Amino acid sequence: MNIRASVIVSVVAAFLAGATAGAQSKLNLVTSTEDLASITREVGGDKVAVIALAKGYQDPHFVEPKPSFILAVNRANLYIAIGRELEIGWLPPLITSSRNAKIQPGANGYLDASLNVRILDIPTGQITRAMGDVHPSGNPHYWLEPGNGRLIAQAIRNKLSELSPADKAYFAQRYDDFDRRLAAAEKRWDAAMAPYKGTKLVTYHRSWPNFMERFGLEVIGYVEPKPGIPPSPSHTLELIDEMKRGGVKLIVVEPYFSLRTPQAIANQVPGGKVLILAPSVGGVKEVTDYIQLFEYDVNLLAGALKQATGK
Ligand SMILES: [Zn+2]
Repeated sequence: MNIRASVIVSVVAAFLAGATAGAQSKLNLVTSTEDLASITREVGGDKVAVIALAKGYQDPHFVEPKPSFILAVNRANLYIAIGRELEIGWLPPLITSSRNAKIQPGANGYLDASLNVRILDIPTGQITRAMGDVHPSGNPHYWLEPGNGRLIAQAIRNKLSELSPADKAYFAQRYDDFDRRLAAAEKRWDAAMAPYKGTKLVTYHRSWPNFMERFGLEVIGYVEPKPGIPPSPSHTLELIDEMKRGGVKLIVVEPYFSLRTPQAIANQVPGGKVLILAPSVGGVKEVTDYIQLFEYDVNLLAGALKQATGK
């Protein structure tokens, strides 16, 4: 964090010291992503004010910090992070310079949402960043599975109850309601995806292991040679061969990647098709909350799989 940012913190802190006296009725929460913000709103209702830093249409590994982020973290009662080093490129300096002891990692107001969920791709053996892998602590895109979303909601319910014990029953009731709606939606999503179990596909980034595992789909390759490394000609040719051999048609792409290479691959593969799915709330404008995220992705993917498989 530079000097200018520090000055902004000082000015903001001085302003808030005078302004917050009467504004303590809501907990001020900041989350790394819009997915966490959506789940937090589900559980926290009108007892919380939530700000998400990364927008759903941005690559969450690479977020440009803005002055407004400093204001948000400075006044936060609770910070909720994705963890697993997803935010390692942008969050640590922001938290350190926030001048907010409550939300430092290890403090009561810092919640790592990855601690009680199912994490895939946990590496074995020695991993170095020289390998170019941005997933050194396991796959950080774990929110893309509704069962993990439920576990995140439970962790948030517990943390909010700890920070605001008088509202414990309120948070419990909000969680139960979210749980019920999510469970009903999961039945629909599982039914929609059931005919396509075992279908093979390709994704751009390794964003979807939890999602694909949940719905029984098999990812046979990635447009990126390694997570965080742009496509290379040799890897692209190998991927085209592999798709041809396996009769693989679909390439799932996150909205923040260039379509050039995926489209070139699709053009080389019989029946090849590029499908843009939303990896986060806000990833496309139709997706405004966590349940909508799966509603959108499952509908789009099931439609594309129906076309690709004829089932
Ligand atoms: Zn990633």
